[in-house]
Amino acid sequence: MDESDFHPNVGRRTGSHVMEYQDLGVAPVVSAQANSTPLGGCTLSEGVITAMGNAARSHVDLDQLWRAAGGFLAEVTGSEDACPVTGAAAGMAIAVAATVAGTDALRVQRLPDPGDQPNEIVLQKGHSISYGGAPITQMIALGGGRTVEVGAVNETLRSHVASAVTSKTAALVYVTSRTHAVHRKGVPLAELVAIGRDHGVPVIVDAAGESDLRRWVASGADLVIYSGPKMLGAPTSGFICGNSGLVAACRAQYAGIARPMKVGKENLLGLLQAVREYTAVPEEKRAAAQHERMTRLAARLDKLPGLSAHVTQDDSGRLIHRVLLNVDPASAGRNAADLAGEMTAGVPSIYMRDFKLHLGQLEVDPRALSPDGEEAVVRRLEELLLGHSGARTDVQAAR
Ligand SMILES: *Cc1c(COP(=O)(O)O)cnc(C)c1O
Repeated sequence: MDESDFHPNVGRRTGSHVMEYQDLGVAPVVSAQANSTPLGGCTLSEGVITAMGNAARSHVDLDQLWRAAGGFLAEVTGSEDACPVTGAAAGMAIAVAATVAGTDALRVQRLPDPGDQPNEIVLQKGHSISYGGAPITQMIALGGGRTVEVGAVNETLRSHVASAVTSKTAALVYVTSRTHAVHRKGVPLAELVAIGRDHGVPVIVDAAGESDLRRWVASGADLVIYSGPKMLGAPTSGFICGNSGLVAACRAQYAGIARPMKVGKENLLGLLQAVREYTAVPEEKRAAAQHERMTRLAARLDKLPGLSAHVTQDDSGRLIHRVLLNVDPASAGRNAADLAGEMTAGVPSIYMRDFKLHLGQLEVDPRALSPDGEEAVVRRLEELLLGHSGARTDVQAAR
């Protein structure tokens, strides 16, 4: 008898048993908060999983692979060249390192000590974000940069940025995200690019969660950073694209600070397949299907006591449609924060999007939510709001 015959999980799959989360006593969770890093990024399509598995079956010259991957990503983004990274946070450290040390081996290997190189990174105060715990300023420091924050959290003027640019400036950084950064009364990217041009200083854009793969490069930014799992359906990965000289300098950092952040061949092929699948579907088509799906879900959730549900589009104008739930504590018997806590405490653990908790609102984001996950959300909300032993309502009876 094969050893695997004794495994408690045999019978659930054919062939020998492979390690699963459950073997470690870790249960999979449901993400209604999109593809967040703390919940494991995103789930992958069968095509992406196959590409990763196939990549794992042979050796390859990584340098050659990276250059070819860069060519593919450059074409997709309309940029001159691209460099794969493990994620957008690594991308920031590497992009900054590229502007501080260039391709000079001595400088590359001296980082994060910049030596006598210009290393000031000018950042609007409203863009000084944290990626769920890790501050952008730390990534900048890792790349040898010293952040010079200008303006105030809720207001930065063009003159604040322009006056901060000196002979010590290595780059200007711009964060596109409207959920994290403050853009109202900030300096728009077009103006930042103009300031960069005037002073001969590159502009680095953190476009981690952006859906448009061409817009930010087209804005004239020198380096643009994307996260693989946020929108693109890729495994833990990302890429920097832009100006060929600076992208070459990004690649040069793999002989320096980027070495502990290297992307393996499997994740790289997964990223490329995901980008291929992502760009094959027009954004409008994806958005229309998502809108229809969220409209159906909102109609179901709106019937529950204490909730009013409707479909809303992403605040920053991306073509993402979510269900926004207003929680009325009087009829729901708990406030939005408590409801979110109860969703997470159940089995499976369900994570709602909680960016509007302070407004008494929860959101369901469709991007990471499977059809099964969606049913789990409905079931849990029904259980919590209708009560296990409560009278059957038309919502339950209709199912
Ligand atoms: C998520 C996020 C990051 C970090 O991305 P990773 O790929 O997880 O490293 C960086 N910047 C912004 C604006 C983000 O939203």
